[in-house]
Amino acid sequence: MSIEKTMKAVRLNAPNDLEYIDLPTPEAGEFEVLVRVESVSICGTDAHIVTGDFPGMWPQEFPLILGHEWAGEIVGMGEKCDDVGWKLGDRVCGIANCGCGYCRNCLEGRFTICLNYGNQKIHRMYGHITDGAYAQYMVASVKTIAKIPDEMSYDVASCMDPLSIALHVVEHSRIEVGDSVFISGAGAQGLMSIICAKTMGAGQIICADTGNRLEAAEKLGATPIDFMKEKVVDRVKELTEGLGAKRAIECTGAPAGVQNCCNVIARGGSISIIGLPKEDVAIPIKQLVLDDVEIVGNRANPNTLIKSISMAMQHEQEIKDLITHVFPLKDYAKAMDIFANQKDGSLKVVMKPQMV
Ligand SMILES: [Zn+2]
Ligand SMILES: [Zn+2]
Repeated sequence: MSIEKTMKAVRLNAPNDLEYIDLPTPEAGEFEVLVRVESVSICGTDAHIVTGDFPGMWPQEFPLILGHEWAGEIVGMGEKCDDVGWKLGDRVCGIANCGCGYCRNCLEGRFTICLNYGNQKIHRMYGHITDGAYAQYMVASVKTIAKIPDEMSYDVASCMDPLSIALHVVEHSRIEVGDSVFISGAGAQGLMSIICAKTMGAGQIICADTGNRLEAAEKLGATPIDFMKEKVVDRVKELTEGLGAKRAIECTGAPAGVQNCCNVIARGGSISIIGLPKEDVAIPIKQLVLDDVEIVGNRANPNTLIKSISMAMQHEQEIKDLITHVFPLKDYAKAMDIFANQKDGSLKVVMKPQMV
């Protein structure tokens, strides 16, 4: 199949200036594939990049094509891709971070904290620094893609990037079979963390949020706490015989969410954080020290993509249920409005670049 020289894409020209535009189809370098993007899911980070919340960082410069939660088919390959086992026609999904592959952190497998982060000569971060998947075609390094099973839909596969982040966050909490888990926030990361915690053998899972997101958490098997109506810390203590939760997963980025985690955590427990607060948050360090509590940060999804794909095959319906809206890419403005403003019970909103 021949590939057209131009493609439709949604390009961010400046903060709050997205444009549906014809652009040249990109070309793959030697270890890169050209992908026909079938599904791209909107991430909370995308909405923040659009409004200009990370000046000079994401993007480093304008214009930029956003989108890092994607799935599609390999339709072109650089000359070395064949050597490392890729074929035209492979169905794949991808992640955002592409480490340099040579620095000490990359060599230890910790490529999301690559020491050459942001140096575009040797490092990529799709949809943040490097052009991403809000387009009919994108180029991706073979380091950032994984094959998806024939039975997995592209829409579900586009959720493997956020699912693999949730998996890293939950694994990083050192969860063990039977542990009680408190999940702060039931957006996509919180809900996916519930799925991961269940898979890893969690005992009681308790989730705090409100509205339709909290209902979704309950549907996934979590005990719900409505923070608008209940005192979160008191309620978690009540549900855990006064001990608190052994693991806490912070997915809100709100100061109250972080503080709740610190106050519900059991002695000897751990808090694993993915929510990104805008400002520093005051936390009860003395209490955390005396209670031997471990706190870990999490940068994206180091080496959890393939694991999350196999996990998703066991929870496919649960992930499908998180996808509340699907739009053609050209309806990006409506899609982003529904997503960013949490309209119409939206959770994951998927755009289809090939749908015209
Ligand atoms: Zn994302
Ligand atoms: Zn590196």
